[in-house]
Amino acid sequence: MNGQVSNLNRITFNMLFNVYSQNGLTPVKASGNYIYNNDGRKYLDCYGGHGVISIGHNHPKWTEAIAQQFQGISFYSNAVTIPQQEILSQKLATISGYPDHALFLINSGAEANENALKVASFHTKREKVISFYGSFHGRTSGAMAVSDSQSMKSPFNSDHHVQFFNLGDLKVLNEIQNNDTAAVIIEGIQGIAGVVDPGKEFFIKLRDACSESGTVLILDEVQSGFGRTGEFFAHLNSGIKADIITMAKGMGNGFPVGGLLIHPEIEAKQGMLGSTFGGSYMATAAAIAVIDVLEDQNLLTNAHAVGKKLVHDLSEIKEIKEVRGRGLMLGIELYENSLSSRKKLLEDGIVTGSSSNQNVLRILPPLTFSYEEASLFTKSLKSILEISS
Ligand code: PLP
Repeated sequence: MNGQVSNLNRITFNMLFNVYSQNGLTPVKASGNYIYNNDGRKYLDCYGGHGVISIGHNHPKWTEAIAQQFQGISFYSNAVTIPQQEILSQKLATISGYPDHALFLINSGAEANENALKVASFHTKREKVISFYGSFHGRTSGAMAVSDSQSMKSPFNSDHHVQFFNLGDLKVLNEIQNNDTAAVIIEGIQGIAGVVDPGKEFFIKLRDACSESGTVLILDEVQSGFGRTGEFFAHLNSGIKADIITMAKGMGNGFPVGGLLIHPEIEAKQGMLGSTFGGSYMATAAAIAVIDVLEDQNLLTNAHAVGKKLVHDLSEIKEIKEVRGRGLMLGIELYENSLSSRKKLLEDGIVTGSSSNQNVLRILPPLTFSYEEASLFTKSLKSILEISS
C-alpha cells in the first residue's frame, strides 16, 4: 500500500448514505395503529410510514398469510405460473370497480407510474405527457420527469417531453385536444403537495378531453388508493373511469408491491413490460390478505366515517386555516409552519407527516383508525395550537 502501514486491527465502517429527514424515533415493534419505540414508549401512528399501513401494523391475517407462503415457496420469477397473481387479479376486479381492466404487477409506486407512462406511449405512439404542478409520481426517470419538484430532478430526468399545468386550469383541455399527447397523469388527490383534490368537475373535463383525443388518462392512486379515502380509488368519487390506474403503498401494508390496472383496449404485448420481482409469491400473498381484511372488517366504511368525524372536529379549531381531503387522507393547513406542532404531537406520542407546503400537516393513519383514536389526535392538536397561539 505505497509504503503506508495499514492498521489491520482497525475495523472501518462505511457511513450510511442518509438522504432522509427523520423524526428521531427508532421503532422496534408495531401492532395495529401503534408503533413502539426502542425506549418502550408507545406512539399512535397517524402517518403509517408515508401512508403504507392500510389494515394496521402486523395484522394477524397478513402475518399469517406471509408466514404460510414463506413455508411453501417464497420466490420464483415470472418464468413460471404464479397462481396467486390470478387470485389477486380476481379480487381486485371485484373490489376496485374495474372488472375488465388487466393487472400488471410491479414493486413500487414509481415503477407502477413508469410502466403506465410506457404503456400509454406504446399505445398512442406519442411522446408527450401532461402533468400538474404540485404532483409527485416517484423517483424513477419517467416518474420523476412528470413530478413537479426541481430539487429532486437531475439533468438526466429532464429530457422528457412533459408539459405542466396548474390543477384546475382549463387551458390544459386545449393542449390535450391537439391530439399529440400520449397521456395525462394525475393523482386521485395530490398527497405530497398537502392533500389537494383536483375536484369532480376537473376530472370530468379531463376525461372528456382525453376520450376525444385518444389520450390515455392515468390516475395515480399510489397514495390515495386502496380504500384510503373511503372509496377504493379517490377518483371514483367523481364518477369517471381512468384508462390506467396505478397503485402501491397500502396495497401490501408494508410488503413492497405495486400494480397497474390497464384498460382492455390497451394492448400489452409480450416483452413490452417485465420485472424480476414483480408479482412475487410473497407480494401477492400480502396484497390478497390486505383485500380480504379490507372486506372482512369493512375498512372503507370505517375510513369514510372516521375521516368525516376528523374533518368535522378539526374544522371547529379556529387555529386551523383549512382541513382538506377525504376519509383517512387529510391535510391540515395551519396559519404557520406545521413543524413545531408536529414535534409537540410527537412529544404527546402521536406520529404525523409533513407536506411540501410547510404549513400543512398530513395524516394518513391505518384504515383501522377508531373514533377514540381520532379524538385523541384532535384533542392533542387542539391544545397544542391553543397554547402556541
Ligand atoms: N405516486 C404518489 C402519488 C406518491 O405519493 C408516491 C410516493 O409517495 C409515489 C407515486 C412513489 O411511490 P414509491 O415511493 O413506492 O415509488
